[in-house]
Amino acid sequence: AVWNLGSVNADRVYRLPHLPEPGETLAAQSHRTGLGGKGANMSVAVARAGSRVHHIGAVGPDGGWMRDRLADYGVGVDRIATVDEVSGHAIIAVDARGENQIILYPGANLAIEPAGTEIALADATAGDIAVCQNETNAQAAFLEAAGLRGLLRCYAAAPFSVDAVAAALPLTDLLVLNAVEAAQLELGMDRPLPELDVADIVVTLGAGGCRWIRTAGGTVREFAAPRVEVVDTTGAGDTFTGYLLAALDQGMEMAQAIGLAQKAGALMVTRLGTADVIPERVEVENYFAR
Ligand code: ADP
Repeated sequence: AVWNLGSVNADRVYRLPHLPEPGETLAAQSHRTGLGGKGANMSVAVARAGSRVHHIGAVGPDGGWMRDRLADYGVGVDRIATVDEVSGHAIIAVDARGENQIILYPGANLAIEPAGTEIALADATAGDIAVCQNETNAQAAFLEAAGLRGLLRCYAAAPFSVDAVAAALPLTDLLVLNAVEAAQLELGMDRPLPELDVADIVVTLGAGGCRWIRTAGGTVREFAAPRVEVVDTTGAGDTFTGYLLAALDQGMEMAQAIGLAQKAGALMVTRLGTADVIPERVEVENYFAR
């Protein structure tokens, strides 16, 4: 199983004729609310890839619908606490040309009880996979507890913060990051990736595919991405990582797991939306079986 300490956000999307100017009050033409947050996206991706996933995190009293939606998608939600804070949410303004402006309020995602993440892993067994991203608190407590239980620990370094990655690295077995984050990390640590203290690193390169670095021995393997028509790249990285971890959880070797994750990420960019449209395993397999 996969144990994911991650954010749960309400994405509130407002369509406007233009982005608001300072001091301007502007009526939106439409509004819709969707499930988002890197953590929630990743949990949905793991479930769609066919692995059991337990989401660990927190929502506010207003977040019941998000827990319900995750449960509908097959995510284990027993370890999502309800705390006395507003749920994490993003106010997303989109103008007529598709340009956006986003206000993110982490809310309950930063009110996770660190000791609770350890308790949440009580039923985890050696060989399971633990993952977290940088949208919650309690990352170190969670990764430490996961290490003691013999889980494979994965850290997705997004949204990027050099302090957060530096703190997580000694507690991480597998680091997943995109090209921008990889460049920021090398700069921030003043060391090339293969010299970092983590066993495996996967750098995603968008349409360029990805690169897998095994630091012991310094082997680097490049993987080309499938070619697809790009509609919306939102959620590609979360889909890739969720599928990668599900594949590893199902016993695939890294190279094979990367192959599946790349297909899922590529199919995801042909779709508009985030958590709600992450492809199912059979869709991924059928799409690329042609
Ligand atoms: P992020 O969304 O975190 O910035 P990337 O853009 O690197 O991450 O995308 C993650 C993965 O999704 C890539 O490694 C690739 O497998 C797949 N992917 C993303 N964009 C494309 C694309 N245009 N064509 C094919 N695959 C893509």
